[in-house]
Amino acid sequence: MTTPLTGGCLCAAIRYTVSTPVTELRACHCTHCQKGSGTGSSVNAVIQSEHFSLTQGTPKRYTDKADSGRTLFRFFCGDCGSPIYSQRQATPERMVVRAGTFDNPPPMKITANIWTKSARPWSWIDPASEQLPGNPA
Ligand SMILES: [Zn+2]
Ligand SMILES: [Zn+2]
Repeated sequence: MTTPLTGGCLCAAIRYTVSTPVTELRACHCTHCQKGSGTGSSVNAVIQSEHFSLTQGTPKRYTDKADSGRTLFRFFCGDCGSPIYSQRQATPERMVVRAGTFDNPPPMKITANIWTKSARPWSWIDPASEQLPGNPA
């Protein structure tokens, strides 16, 4: 396992490290992740925020009212628009990092799909994964 993991946005203005191993990913098919990613879902590593460090740049923050009704901060690059991570206002100790922003990730697998009730008909969901129609409990 390679730690720390490194990652960043498309234009490289934002760079970060993750100092905990990541093997499992969670795909979120909520309508807000669809708009925010421009595709069918966001695919994320769920980590403790203490393991995430920005090493370059400052992401912009969009305050979203999630499908669940909770306030969610979505952090993205203000220059190139890449989504980087999200945090719930109520639980800043945890964050979800967009898996597509990792540079050279070790093998990772989507083990859970959430908000499947709003999944696009063209999104593929691994039938072997955990599937939840809405938020995890
Ligand atoms: Zn950028
Ligand atoms: Zn979502």
